[in-house]
Amino acid sequence: MRIRFWGVRGSIPTPPTSAQIKNKIRKIAQRIVSENITDQHKINTLIDSMSPVDAGLIGGNTSCIELRADNKILIFDMGSGLKNLGNFIMKHDQNADGLEIHIFISHTHWDHMLGFPFFGPAFFPNNKIYFYSGHPNIKERLELQQDFRFFPVALHQMQAQKEFIHLKHISSFKIGNLTVKHLPLYHPGGSFGYRVECCDKSFVYATDSEYKDLSKKNTQDHIDFFKDADLLVFDAQYTFEEAIHKEDWGHSSALVGIDFSIQANVKRLALFHHEPERDDFEIDKILKKSIDYKKMNYPDADLKIFLATEDLEFQL
Ligand SMILES: [Zn+2]
Ligand SMILES: [Zn+2]
Repeated sequence: MRIRFWGVRGSIPTPPTSAQIKNKIRKIAQRIVSENITDQHKINTLIDSMSPVDAGLIGGNTSCIELRADNKILIFDMGSGLKNLGNFIMKHDQNADGLEIHIFISHTHWDHMLGFPFFGPAFFPNNKIYFYSGHPNIKERLELQQDFRFFPVALHQMQAQKEFIHLKHISSFKIGNLTVKHLPLYHPGGSFGYRVECCDKSFVYATDSEYKDLSKKNTQDHIDFFKDADLLVFDAQYTFEEAIHKEDWGHSSALVGIDFSIQANVKRLALFHHEPERDDFEIDKILKKSIDYKKMNYPDADLKIFLATEDLEFQL
């Protein structure tokens, strides 16, 4: 199972500002000077060894994750990251016979939808796109997004074949050898998490969810859904304090994600749906605090915590 992050930001696409880029360049230049590095090759090696926070970007595109397993293409959400994923698919996968693409939609807030009109593979008539959603009327919602008043190209003008699948009370279904499950999350208007299992590995995508009642009654089905996941992608938009103040805004914090991960024996936790008002260094502070929290409260647990960053890719 291969996972790649194409959009990791919450709420609205967030390109870096000039001031933020200059700030990073200054810090890198200071380091080169302080370490007295003059050789260009060594400068390149240093920059390549630095994290996206220090010498790149966490990324400003909104929610979109690619999963490949069993020769299937699965996509979780259609935020602005979907445009670049579409370009990648057209360059590396597109063939004359057409592709099957399975898109799982958490919900239809703009940050999870707005990439679709720019998804290149949707313009190939031989491609077939399956849209899965826990919400009804997903076709109507997509058509509305591309109503002529809001966008010049209508959904039907994107010529790929489309099938819309409303996941009602189905708890589990198969796509080839993959098993897919879904779970309603706590979010204004509703959101849905997805779990994919294949070849003894499991991936859970659970974003846009608020946990203001952490009682067992309210969380046990979530813990069960996350159980033994090799990777859990979790809504960590707010700090713990913000999550308390922003009640009913529909988002969670890294600390809640850690508590759930420990209870569910999750192996890797990706902090996701980053707050658009925070720069990369502020988001990195949340990661550092999260790692400290885990060390202090669960020193023996084997849980890896990291930031979801654009282009991050790994094999489960
Ligand atoms: Zn969102
Ligand atoms: Zn939302």
